Amino acid sequence: MRTVELIRKKRDGKSLNTDEIRHLIEGYCAGTIPDVQMAAFASAVYFRGMTSRETLDLTKAMASSGERVDLSPIGRPVADKHSTGGVGDTTTLVAAPLVAAAGVPVAKMSGGALGHTGGTIDKLSCIPRLHTDLPAAQLVAAVRKTNIAIAAQTEDLVPADEKLYRLRHATATVESLPLIASSIMSKKLAGGADVLVLDVKTGGGALLPERPQAVQLGQLMVDIAAGAGVRTAAVLSDMSQPLGRAVGNSLEVREAIATLSGEGPADLEELSLVLGGHMLALAGAAPNASAGRGRLARLLADGYGLQKFARFVDNQGGDPAIVEDPSLLPAAAHRIRVASPKTGYITAVDARTIGEIASTLARCADGTTDLAAGVVVKGKAGERVQQGQPLVWLHTGDPQPADLEQIIDRVGQAFVIEKSPVGAPPLIHEVLHSDDDADHGS
Ligand code: URA
Ligand code: CA
Repeated sequence: MRTVELIRKKRDGKSLNTDEIRHLIEGYCAGTIPDVQMAAFASAVYFRGMTSRETLDLTKAMASSGERVDLSPIGRPVADKHSTGGVGDTTTLVAAPLVAAAGVPVAKMSGGALGHTGGTIDKLSCIPRLHTDLPAAQLVAAVRKTNIAIAAQTEDLVPADEKLYRLRHATATVESLPLIASSIMSKKLAGGADVLVLDVKTGGGALLPERPQAVQLGQLMVDIAAGAGVRTAAVLSDMSQPLGRAVGNSLEVREAIATLSGEGPADLEELSLVLGGHMLALAGAAPNASAGRGRLARLLADGYGLQKFARFVDNQGGDPAIVEDPSLLPAAAHRIRVASPKTGYITAVDARTIGEIASTLARCADGTTDLAAGVVVKGKAGERVQQGQPLVWLHTGDPQPADLEQIIDRVGQAFVIEKSPVGAPPLIHEVLHSDDDADHGS
């Protein structure tokens, strides 16, 4: 097969067959297809797109490029969740223990933070001694013991994506729906779960801010999952403002513990319950998603989610005492209050800007990450604020951050404050199912 002919075919808007797509991925991983050719191919896909059959073939070829985790020794349907990336998005640490407490095994593999959005593995690295470097056999053993494990993606999981993602970054081809969908879903398929709930974000802080594109991405991923035999739903959720109030690694672990204690922000609690409810329904542990949500709400109220979270921490070598005493988690030495310049109703809090500020505060001069740093948002859309009251607290290790003036300006720009109230944006816009799912059960 001549690679240049396949590039030409895609460049001219034609579809590639399964073998042709496999040839490209296998050749690229083996090094027989060089970066220049793959860059031209990625560009052709960027401009010409792919059919859903081609995208499924691409996803499967990528998923087969490395290790595939076999979760079958767990002996029951295993659930996973994935978020396309949000600001202050801590739902995994709330939903996963609740789902596990309901008796559905959860095995999640997670990547690092991307851009202005956080990653679960960075958050978990705040917990003293907890490790997430679990090879497949240990992941399975951990799930068998406590019904829940969260592991960092290993280098052997979808090496094709690692290589292709770097190339896409360098060639301005990240923003292509089939390339994003195959990148995300190849890692999920290789992770081996039977049930997958996708949290597809939409709004200013999302990977794809515009709702029609987010819907397209969600539908594409749901169809890929269905084509690969994974039971899936995609929840399209709001990311115009940060989720919850805490944005930053250690701050978000504290917020997750508070939420599992029944004292968390309403939006974080609700989205976690909804995502978890779909996980239960797809795993066959609830007749439908709303019944699943109700069951998880009761487990939360009775403290079983928090108990399961402590067992999860302990099982992965971490100190479960953080659950009773969150002061054992990293805390910033300094807190800086940014006050509201006027009295009125908050009508918008720009998630992207808040996420970027949190990342800036966490970036140390020596290139390391300050896990304690971040932003706590005091006002959210729909709430009233008085002049002089805090809009946010900045958490930082540096009493005088060099760019403090600029950060304060940016906080001011992130908040829109008006005379009359505007309701908060809806938290959940819609739920997408695969077309071949007759009974959506929601
Ligand atoms: N996240 C991924 O894993 N891949 C993409 O291409 C974009 C976001
Ligand atoms: Ca949060």
